[in-house]
Amino acid sequence: MVKIAERIQFVKENIASACSRSGRNPADVKLVVVTKSASIEAIEEIVRLGFYELGENRVQQLKKVAPILDEFLQRNQDLSTGKKVHWHMIGHLQRNKVRQVLPVVTLIHSVDTLRLAEEINSSAAKLDVSAMILLEVNTSEEPQKFGVSVGAAPHLAEQIDTLSNVKLAGLMTMAPLTHNKDVIRKCFVRARELFVEMKGEKIVGPHFTELSMGMSSDYVIAVEEGATILRIGSAIFSG
Ligand SMILES: *Cc1c(COP(=O)(O)O)cnc(C)c1O
Repeated sequence: MVKIAERIQFVKENIASACSRSGRNPADVKLVVVTKSASIEAIEEIVRLGFYELGENRVQQLKKVAPILDEFLQRNQDLSTGKKVHWHMIGHLQRNKVRQVLPVVTLIHSVDTLRLAEEINSSAAKLDVSAMILLEVNTSEEPQKFGVSVGAAPHLAEQIDTLSNVKLAGLMTMAPLTHNKDVIRKCFVRARELFVEMKGEKIVGPHFTELSMGMSSDYVIAVEEGATILRIGSAIFSG
């Protein structure tokens, strides 16, 4: 478990130096620890270390792990001092699973169709809550990827903004799996430009503040290009 503490420390240092290189405040960059590949013991260690923003990409796993951690915090009240884990749903979400995830999650990163947003809206209305979501944008333009195209994103955002129980909190994107840093950076730049454009044209409300991009292999580039949320798993759990 020492390893996990060291690795997360290393990640935090890399984030801090990327921030200072690009004139950003580290407080503006939130780390979501992606637990999909981790054991329960490893996830508990993360919480013990003070990280409460956790991400899962599968509904099944989220429903399994979330109650275990709730219990863990119940048993270790000295740790939590009233804090709760905030779960982020980062993977593709099917409409028939929305009802199950909504009570558990703080932010859904992966909304890419109006139909999915509408489903979230009606489930949220039934629970009498406002669901925070991000629009997933396919900035790499790979056909097999999820996400709305860059060109279609503003119109979809406008439509989502009319839903009364959904709050569009920003954009999410994934860079392609490549070692070519220029290709990765281009995707992140495209996402940032779209983010700034949508804010500027007031397509979205004042709660449109988050840009979720950057994973284990590319988070430093993501910080340099303006990410406000990083989703990092293997760099913390498998080195
Ligand atoms: C798994 C996953 C991550 C984290 O990937 P790592 O390379 O393990 O850091 C981030 N975002 C999404 C959508 C994922 O599915």
